[in-house]
Amino acid sequence: MGKEPGAFDEAEFTQRRIVDLCEAALVRAGAAGVFPTPLNEVIEVAGIDEILDISELPTDITKPSALRRILGALHFRHRTVFVDRAQSGGRVRWTEAHEAVHGILPWHEGQALLDDDETLFRSSEDQREVEANFGAAHLVFQGKRFFEQALDFEHSIKTPIMIHDEFGASIHATARYYAERHPESMALALCGRFPRQSGHVPIFTTFESPSFKRQFGVLRQFLPEAGMPVNGGLGIDGLAAIARSALSMTVDVAHCELKVRDLGGDFRRFRVEAFNNQHVLFVLFTRRSAMPRLGKKIDVMSS
Ligand SMILES: [Zn+2]
Repeated sequence: MGKEPGAFDEAEFTQRRIVDLCEAALVRAGAAGVFPTPLNEVIEVAGIDEILDISELPTDITKPSALRRILGALHFRHRTVFVDRAQSGGRVRWTEAHEAVHGILPWHEGQALLDDDETLFRSSEDQREVEANFGAAHLVFQGKRFFEQALDFEHSIKTPIMIHDEFGASIHATARYYAERHPESMALALCGRFPRQSGHVPIFTTFESPSFKRQFGVLRQFLPEAGMPVNGGLGIDGLAAIARSALSMTVDVAHCELKVRDLGGDFRRFRVEAFNNQHVLFVLFTRRSAMPRLGKKIDVMSS
């Protein structure tokens, strides 16, 4: 919005390039449209000869700190990827995809790249790591192929919960991809599970779909500064109630309706769902339209 015609957006250009290069690798590997993506084959077409366990990481790589647990690495000279296989299945696959992208993007070429929890699973500031995770998401979910499946179901947190296994991804990575790339207005807050004295849980980060960003801005600005309310009487009691039920695990997915003010000043209705996977509290905002809901309903209990 408000962009000058022909203005060059470098971030957008880079993202498109990463998707194109990753997509080309998927096609070359015969992995396009195959789920879960056969990452070994993608790693192979990225010119990497071998995937080894992290315990075999050669000693000529200088580790930055004894405290930093290295979970993945790409050694360019040896054309070898190292992955810590003691992680959960979804994390192993994410690490493989991340290292594959380091191998796919020609401007990442270097001596050795070491990855830890920060660069793989948190919001690293390092541009190269942000790019590797952006590409990893494309290798795991494959863009429109993910949405061809996801959009068959209702717009709900229940959809990533139900389909994450099919992509060999964690619920966390799937819910983020779903919210961040959804064609409609959708936003996701990732929150902690332990309430502070103030009666709020911390909000780690939020992700918004392009349409949400255009129409509403960033989700964080609509939520209390102190965090996601869990106790009543802090404002937004409906939100506090669903966060509380999700945290107490009395229901699988708790929901309520809220109105959110758009950038033009009008209030729009959202359905808000809270879900606790025992690591993070997910709070997903989906636009409530006047149209009847499309897509098959999902019963999490029976799936
Ligand atoms: Zn990395």
